[in-house]
Amino acid sequence: MEDFDTLAQERRARLAAERLLELKQAELYEANRKLSKHALSLSGEIIEKRQEAEHLKVENSRTREDLDKANSAIVIAERRLWDSLETIQDGFAVFDPSDTMIAANSAYLRVFDDLEDVKPGISYSDIVRLAVEEGIIDIGDMSREAYIEAALTRWRAATREPQTVRLWNNQYVKLVDRRSRDGDMVSLGLNITGTIRYEERLKKARYKAESANRAKSAFLANMSHEIRTPMNGMVGMADLLAETSLDKEQRLFVETIKSSGTALLNLINDVLDYSKIEASKLVLNPEVFDLEKCIHDVIVLLQPNAAQKGLSLIIDYDMFLPTRFVGDPGRMRQVLTNLIGNAVKFTHEGHVIVRVVGVPEKGGLSQRVHVSVEDTGIGIPKGFENHIFGEFNQVEDDRNRKFEGTGLGLAITRELVQLMGGEIWVDSVEGEGSCFGFCMSMDVVGESADNRAPAWIKDIAVVESVEAHADILSKQLAALGIKATIFADAKSVLENPPAVQAYLISQHLEDLEIEEVIAALKAAEVKAGILVMAAGMGMKAPDIPDVHVVHRPLVRAELCRALAALEPVEISALPPLVLEGPQMPDTTKKAGLRRMRILAAEDNKTNQLVFGKMVKALDVELVFANNGQEAIDLYQSFDPDLVFMDISMPEVDGKEATRRIREIEAQTGRHVPVVAMTAHAMTGDEEEILSHGLDHYMTKPLRKAAIIDRILMEHPAECKPVAPMDDDAPSAVDTAVREAMAEATQIGG
Ligand code: ADP
Repeated sequence: MEDFDTLAQERRARLAAERLLELKQAELYEANRKLSKHALSLSGEIIEKRQEAEHLKVENSRTREDLDKANSAIVIAERRLWDSLETIQDGFAVFDPSDTMIAANSAYLRVFDDLEDVKPGISYSDIVRLAVEEGIIDIGDMSREAYIEAALTRWRAATREPQTVRLWNNQYVKLVDRRSRDGDMVSLGLNITGTIRYEERLKKARYKAESANRAKSAFLANMSHEIRTPMNGMVGMADLLAETSLDKEQRLFVETIKSSGTALLNLINDVLDYSKIEASKLVLNPEVFDLEKCIHDVIVLLQPNAAQKGLSLIIDYDMFLPTRFVGDPGRMRQVLTNLIGNAVKFTHEGHVIVRVVGVPEKGGLSQRVHVSVEDTGIGIPKGFENHIFGEFNQVEDDRNRKFEGTGLGLAITRELVQLMGGEIWVDSVEGEGSCFGFCMSMDVVGESADNRAPAWIKDIAVVESVEAHADILSKQLAALGIKATIFADAKSVLENPPAVQAYLISQHLEDLEIEEVIAALKAAEVKAGILVMAAGMGMKAPDIPDVHVVHRPLVRAELCRALAALEPVEISALPPLVLEGPQMPDTTKKAGLRRMRILAAEDNKTNQLVFGKMVKALDVELVFANNGQEAIDLYQSFDPDLVFMDISMPEVDGKEATRRIREIEAQTGRHVPVVAMTAHAMTGDEEEILSHGLDHYMTKPLRKAAIIDRILMEHPAECKPVAPMDDDAPSAVDTAVREAMAEATQIGG
């Protein structure tokens, strides 16, 4: 049993050992399998890495090749760059941010030829110092230190302008230095010797040409002048000869001498003008002038020519544009004569209109004046608009050739307009007409008393059958503060003559002759002044007693002058007291009124005398102050109704005196009108003077009519009429006023 057990135990043990062995074997097998799998993946990775390494090797060698190529390209580019920099004649250098030279081409270094120190590594300040000390750069009048300081200051500035320096060998170098973004400075030294020499030669040549031109112009000017003198004698004598008794043939000879002489004189005048302009000898003589009158004068001169051809010459002067300007009236007339003369010359039928408008500038102190001369003539072919402004240039065609002329007129006109600071142009349609225009700025001068109508004229009857003329007239009169009543024919006005202060009647009415109209008015006992508008200067004007004639085109100044010359017969237009004076039945009431008090401050005794004479006929109390201080004192003691104040007086002048009077008035609340009397008639004077508290402005020489007009306007209601009263002679009321109005005595001042 025991053996059986032992055997069983042994068998069990063996079986267990066998099982364990099996187990271990299985584990070993599993481990072995894993190991071989891992080995497999490792060997795969090794193959991959090996392939990668292989690839990298190829890449690496390719990169190295590329790098070699790039390096050699850089070397080539650098060599080429330097070859180029070496080839150019201009200097080139680069400095690092601490201003140390990094590189420079031979041209740059050559300037410092013998100086070994000038090479890469040297500082810019050392280069400048060496250049100055060794005399490489011409430093002119500057001290060495100052020159170096200036050069280094320029170098260090944020931005630097190119600088031209002259070298010891008379070469010129233009230094252009620019700092790059990384702080390096690139410096170029451009050799501009050739350019400078060329400029010098050009300058010399230009100077020579200009002197030759000046000499030519001076010669022309002298010759023209020399020729003109005997020519005047010839033309003058021919004129005289023409007035003697001559037979038909002799008259023809003399007329030919006259017309040829005149043509030659015109030509010489043109040449003289042109050469003067070229030689810059022509200077303008600015003075106060009336532009409207200037145009009118030119029109009057050209009217006979225009009338011969049946052309109407019309002025359309903007009613709101002042007429008095500062300019050269003689030269303005020359420009206008040329343009309007050409318009008349090149027009066979139709009209020539001169239009003037202006745009205020500098707050109205000056005007941009536009003048255009429009015609219905032959016109200018396309493409010739600029050509005709050239000297001796004309439109060369059949139609043009028959007109006389030199072709200098427009050239001179353009030069004159430009000399006056203006521009000139032309618009034209061939066969239809041309419009020449020019514009320029001119300072405005306050309207003169000439351009104001007398205060007593308020209503005028205009008898005019041409509607356009009537329109312009009523605009013109409205601008003067006068109401115009228009009558289209004589009949309508004669039916019921209106109560106006003046009649303005056209010489040519459709229904009646002018003489008949005036006779009818006189028969109707019309007392108003009568003005007849004649067709134009040179045209036959009516000669009727007591009738004034004005010529078309009507100019404001002429119209005002004619109105001022009228006798103020229409009493209803005078200030109330004057007009009521003669009708007042109660003389005691009249006697109770005081006389108007007038203070005139004037330091000049002669002017006092003349002023006294001007107002002598008036029934006023006149006191003179000999200076500004006296004027202030008299203002308080005399208590004037009106003050005439001279501006230039010793010690206290008129402006100061008025200021002080206004200070006194600030307490009393009064305001006495103060009228400036001054010889300062330039632009801006009026505004300046009035800014000191004066109310009105009169320029010397004073006009009697203007003074009396002002007195009438300022006449206070509580004063006696300014003219002496006499119930027995009521007409004396306005005798003085009439006298004053009619006369335009002038005093100097
Ligand atoms: P001129 O009249 O003496 O010939 P200008 O210089 O005044 O010289 O004018 C030059 C030319 O311009 C004239 O010859 C003419 O051909 C042309 N021209 C000038 N004004 C006019 C105009 N209003 N209408 C037509 N042509 C004109």
